Amino acid sequence: MPERFIFGELLAPITERASRVDSADGDLAPEIEILRKARWLTACLPVSDGGQSWGTEPSGSLVALNALRYLGRANLSVARLFEGHMNAVKLIALYSDDRQRAATFDQVRRGALFGVWGADEPGNPVTMVCEGEKIRLSGAKRFASGLGLVDHAIVIVSDDDDGPYMLLAPTSTRERSDATDWRMAGMRATRSGRYDFNGLVLSADARIGQKGDYLREPHFEGGIWRYCAAHLGGAEVLYKSMLAHLSARGRADHPDQRRRIVDCATALETSRLWLRRCAEKIEARDASSGKSTLALLAREVTENACRTVIEIVDRSLGMAAHEEGSAVERIKRDLALFLCQAAPDAKRERAGRALVAGSGLAETL
Ligand SMILES: Cc1cc2nc3c(=O)[nH]c(=O)nc-3n(C[C@H](O)[C@H](O)[C@H](O)COP(=O)(O)OP(=O)(O)OC[C@H]3O[C@@H](n4cnc5c(N)ncnc54)[C@H](O)[C@@H]3O)c2cc1C
Repeated sequence: MPERFIFGELLAPITERASRVDSADGDLAPEIEILRKARWLTACLPVSDGGQSWGTEPSGSLVALNALRYLGRANLSVARLFEGHMNAVKLIALYSDDRQRAATFDQVRRGALFGVWGADEPGNPVTMVCEGEKIRLSGAKRFASGLGLVDHAIVIVSDDDDGPYMLLAPTSTRERSDATDWRMAGMRATRSGRYDFNGLVLSADARIGQKGDYLREPHFEGGIWRYCAAHLGGAEVLYKSMLAHLSARGRADHPDQRRRIVDCATALETSRLWLRRCAEKIEARDASSGKSTLALLAREVTENACRTVIEIVDRSLGMAAHEEGSAVERIKRDLALFLCQAAPDAKRERAGRALVAGSGLAETL
C-alpha cells in the first residue's frame, strides 16, 4: 500500500486534534502515544536493533523523509518533537559506545522519547565539572522542545572552542521544567521552554562520543534535511488547503489564482526533489563531510518554497487566510516560527562560502 495511505490513516487523529492542542497548555502526550503504538519511535533504530533505520541507515532515508513530511502535514509541533527524537537516536547510533548504545536503544524500544537540547539560556549556559566518576552540571537550556514529554535529551555542553560535549541526561523532572517563557505565536504545543540542569549529577558514561563529534559533518549541518522535511509538510498542507478553498468558492479558474497554484506547486516539488537528493547523499555510508553543503542549499530552497507558499496563500485566500481558529491561520503561524530554526543567515553564508571554494555547480556536490 502506498505510504500516503498508511501515513494518512495513522496520522488522521493527529491532524484532527491539531487545532485543539494549539496552545501553551496543549498536551501532545496522546500524539506521542499514537506514534509510540505505531512503532515510529523504534522505527528510528537501525534494523539490527529492532528498528526500520529511519534516519539511521541509508535504507531508511527516504521513508524517514516522507514520515517527517506527512507528520508535518498533520501537526508541525508533533513533527518537531519526532524530529528531535530521530536526531538523538542518530547521534547515539553514530557516536556512542556499545554499552551506551545497548542501554539507550533498549529505552527507545520500551517507548522513551528522546530530544536534543542545544540552545543555552543567555548568561547561564550549561557547563560541566568532572568529579571522579561523576559529572556535575550547572546552568540551563532554553527552547528545549517537549518539556514534560521528552524522557532523555542529548545535552550539548560547550566549554571552549574545540567543540562541545554531548551528555545524555534524564529530562523528566517536573521541577526543573519551565514552559512559561514559551510565549510564541506558533508551535505552541511544543512547550519549548527552560530546563534547569543546576546540580544534576550524571555518571561519567553519560558522555556520548568525543568532544566535537556533535559538530562533525556531514551529519551536523547535513542533518538539516530532517527538519526541512517537516517544514515542507507544513507548506504542502497549506497548498492543499488553498486548492480546496479556491475550488469550494469557485475561484480556482481565475488566471491569477492558477498562476499562484503553479508557483506553489513548482516550489514545493523543487524542495521535495532537493530534500530527497540531500537525504540520500548525506545518509549514504561513504558520505564525505563536504556533502553538508547540499543540506545547506536544500534548506535554502525549502525555506524559500515555504515562504512562497505562505505569501501566495495570503494573496489567494485574502482575509480567510487570517481567520483565527482556522487550520490555515494556525499552520502559517507554526511554519513561520519553525522556519527560524536555526540561524538561517549563518547557514546561507556557509553555503555561499562552500560554493565559492568549490567553484562548481551545485550538481557536483
Ligand atoms: C519550534 C522550535 C523548537 C525548537 N526546539 C529546540 C530544541 O529542542 N532544542 C534546541 O536546542 N533548540 C531548539 N530551538 C531553538 C533553535 O535551535 C535556535 O536556537 C533558535 O531557532 C534560534 O532562533 P533565534 O531566531 O532566536 O536565533 P538568532 O540566533 O538570534 O537569529 C536571529 C537572526 O540572526 C541570524 N543569525 C544568527 N546567528 C548568526 C550567525 N552566526 N551568522 C549570521 N547570522 C546569524 C539568524 O539567521 C536570524 O536571521 C527551537 C526553535 C524553534 C523555533
